[in-house]
Amino acid sequence: MRALTFHGKHDVRVETVPDPEIVNPRDAIIEVTATAICGSDLHLYDGVIPGVHRGDILGHEFMGRVVETGRDSPLKKGQRVVVPFTIACGKCFHCARQQYSACDNSNPAETQDSSELLYGHALSGLFGYSHLTGGYPGGQAQYVRVPFSDVGPIVIPDGLSDEEVLFLSDILPTGWMAADNCDIEEGDTVAVWGCGPVGLFAVQSALLMGAHQVIAIDHYPHRLELARALGAKVIDYRHSHVLEALREMTGGLGPDAVIDAVGMESHGLAPDAVLDAAKQTFGFGADRGHALREAILACRKGGRVSVPGVYGGFLDKFPLGAFMEKGLQWRTGQTHVQKYSQDLLRRIGEGEIDTTFLISHRLPLEEAATGYANFHENKNEWTKVVLTP
Ligand SMILES: [Zn+2]
Ligand SMILES: [Zn+2]
Repeated sequence: MRALTFHGKHDVRVETVPDPEIVNPRDAIIEVTATAICGSDLHLYDGVIPGVHRGDILGHEFMGRVVETGRDSPLKKGQRVVVPFTIACGKCFHCARQQYSACDNSNPAETQDSSELLYGHALSGLFGYSHLTGGYPGGQAQYVRVPFSDVGPIVIPDGLSDEEVLFLSDILPTGWMAADNCDIEEGDTVAVWGCGPVGLFAVQSALLMGAHQVIAIDHYPHRLELARALGAKVIDYRHSHVLEALREMTGGLGPDAVIDAVGMESHGLAPDAVLDAAKQTFGFGADRGHALREAILACRKGGRVSVPGVYGGFLDKFPLGAFMEKGLQWRTGQTHVQKYSQDLLRRIGEGEIDTTFLISHRLPLEEAATGYANFHENKNEWTKVVLTP
């Protein structure tokens, strides 16, 4: 089959690789009909995620048709499914509590040690990412093996197009969980840092959950325009002082909840000693985490901080004093996609949520490298790339 593979920093290629096969009884093989490039893929593209090997197949946002099933898979050949990017067994301690992205069974034993060393516990499995998270071949390919196919895949009814449901794989539930983590109440103001896909879907979700006012912060004019079209007020941080503007827009109180949908490039994934050395040498860490620091300073006393943005290691100059003295609460984590799938599918089917506005470019899988380069370089116009194998 053809698949997009990693070959080093800013070097991804579509090449011919072996077809996937059923390994376990609960597996299914999906023939991919649509797949997207994610902001998280750019961390891989920039070569800042450890544990990515030459030849690894990337991609964790995909959907397709079931073409083969293991004997314990409930899926049927020909069914259309969207596959969550988090791989979960559905049976462990965490899955039983709907904390699917913390699944204890989806990261194979041989790749658990490094994440346990770094985080205190082994991480769960993700498609198309690092070997820290299982090294599973991703979905920017013609075919994918889907483990635990009785837990993850969302069966799509006829009548909904691929583009209408594709983002159930990651960015829609991620934006939704970011807003859910804000515990929004009637009359609340929610401020969102970053108008990438997750930030925009967090804006959309917060408004649906009843936020009185949502304020989006970015500097790309087109992305701010998309936020405005969803119903947000916007702040372009090149032209305004963010903290002053937020104070003014909230009667001096500050936002009730803040969302950091920026995150940071994960230079911090190395052990702390290496990080310190690197920081000394190259000055890393000076401004990374800026959005999170600003969000904490902006948040009203007693407010909530939600962090869907990806962080990998350590953050210095963290304003813990402001966080503690103002009595803030914090919720974060990789998305528990499976917890939100059915509710979000229903909302799409009923026309309450439309995510297709985000798609700026459609390319054949063969041109995926062009998609990566442009999504990386031209962030203003290239808001989301959908690939078709
Ligand atoms: Zn993603
Ligand atoms: Zn589990």
